[in-house]
Amino acid sequence: MPVKLGKERLHDLINGNQLFLPRMNDKIRVRFAPSPTGGLHLGGVRTALYNYLFARQQGGQFILRIEDTDQTRYVPGAEQYILDTLAWCGIEPDESPEKPGAYGPYRQTERKENYLLYAEKLVKEGYAYYAFDTPEELEQKRKEIPDFQYNISHRAAMRNSLTMPADEVTKAFADHTPYVIRLKVPEGETIELDDMIRGKLQFQSNQADDKVLLKKDGMPTYHLAVVVDDYLMQISHVFRGEEWLPSAPVHVLLWKYLFGLENMPQWAHLPLILKPEGNGKLSKRAAAQSGFPIFAMNWTDPQTKELTQGFRERGFLPEAFINMLALLGWNNGTEQEIFSLPELVAQFSIARVHKAGARFDYEKAKWFNHEWLKKTAMSTIAPEIKNLFEAKGITVEDKATFIEVLELVKDRCTLLTDFVEQAHYFFQRPLQYDIAAIASKWTIEKNNFFIELIRSYSLLPYWELPDLENTFREMAAAHAIKIGELLLPLRIMLVGGKSGPGVFHIAALLGKEETLERINLNLSTLSKTQ
Ligand code: GLU
Repeated sequence: MPVKLGKERLHDLINGNQLFLPRMNDKIRVRFAPSPTGGLHLGGVRTALYNYLFARQQGGQFILRIEDTDQTRYVPGAEQYILDTLAWCGIEPDESPEKPGAYGPYRQTERKENYLLYAEKLVKEGYAYYAFDTPEELEQKRKEIPDFQYNISHRAAMRNSLTMPADEVTKAFADHTPYVIRLKVPEGETIELDDMIRGKLQFQSNQADDKVLLKKDGMPTYHLAVVVDDYLMQISHVFRGEEWLPSAPVHVLLWKYLFGLENMPQWAHLPLILKPEGNGKLSKRAAAQSGFPIFAMNWTDPQTKELTQGFRERGFLPEAFINMLALLGWNNGTEQEIFSLPELVAQFSIARVHKAGARFDYEKAKWFNHEWLKKTAMSTIAPEIKNLFEAKGITVEDKATFIEVLELVKDRCTLLTDFVEQAHYFFQRPLQYDIAAIASKWTIEKNNFFIELIRSYSLLPYWELPDLENTFREMAAAHAIKIGELLLPLRIMLVGGKSGPGVFHIAALLGKEETLERINLNLSTLSKTQ
């Protein structure tokens, strides 16, 4: 039987036909289902990543579904931000609002009629009911009853289609009284769930409340929408954060009532990402307090205009960000820590995802970036780093030299932003020279040495590292000055400070003219301080 989708399928539903979509084949289809409410937390990106890795490894599909039914939390721009983040991370979906496949639409607000029909079906079959309680009435109950829940114990005392006479219900509809549809949680049932990470789990139905499935505005809640869509989109596995585990029994009940559990996806609830100290979930506030990013990329709240810096803008490479996230909850059983995306695809396994929360460690995140910088060919990221130089008012003209400089200093950099700090002096004369560090030991002999060095260097036919070094060494020997006494002055004259890569390498890249000018400049300063 061909699978019916869209209008044709809805038509069947309206006409009371049973609607069970057989899974067409054993296709692996996983989804990342974020709500567009703001910047994407690194935990969200990890969920997307694990879904992606599994899909790629199994030859399946990775779907992006935008869960935007909560209009009060909807934030304009957040959907585009999610798409941009996935693109930056290199984990782009096979199907999404931007790239619709055969199971669309991919935004829940555009699937609104579906949910209404399924909610009505639940009511018709006795698994859900209409509730007419006003916000004031609910508030009153909360005041009267501590820890009030709309559930098995209290539903009989509320205004709903289970307690109201049929004519009153009819009248309430005729009067357009606002209502919601609630799930009628069964009494005394054990709800079972087989989690790929946590094993067999049991929940007692009496502990669940009668969740709202359809809201007053006709929009579904997350619980109804997620089940209906996972079914209609033929999702085979649901990998999502542990924070959704308490909702899972409600989802299992809905799967049972709506679809007889047929084609229910396999579940896996991913471990929480904890604060560095391990005490509780890593929140935006906790990250801000500790001074590290939590969003993948910069996020500006459209209302408050508050900017929250992302990992990208802090100077992380996507490869490092992804690598670090993959290891927050998973390892391959060896000491290996550096994995490229294709390696992760090949080696990832849900069986090796652990249950315990994973501590986020910002220092370790930086370590990943440092390792990735060392592995990365600077030609691939030079344009990005050039922008960082330009943002600091430093212009870079010669591309080849720029790349050589970046290669020279990359081992000293942890974040992309460090390149400016480590290499600015190649493109801009130092604003200050640490003359004090050499002035006290300055001698007439050293002065003579450098005067002669300028002469010898200017006569060199080639400006290359070995010539520069050899000339320098030979001259030091001829002047009977220890080379160690001369290298620091040379470095300070060229760089301004004491650090940096090999000084002859620096001189080679600075070029003859600039090297000689800097030595000259400093010699005249030194002569004034004597
Ligand atoms: N919309 C939920 C979220 O924002 C999705 C949870 C799920 O994957 O079921 O994370």
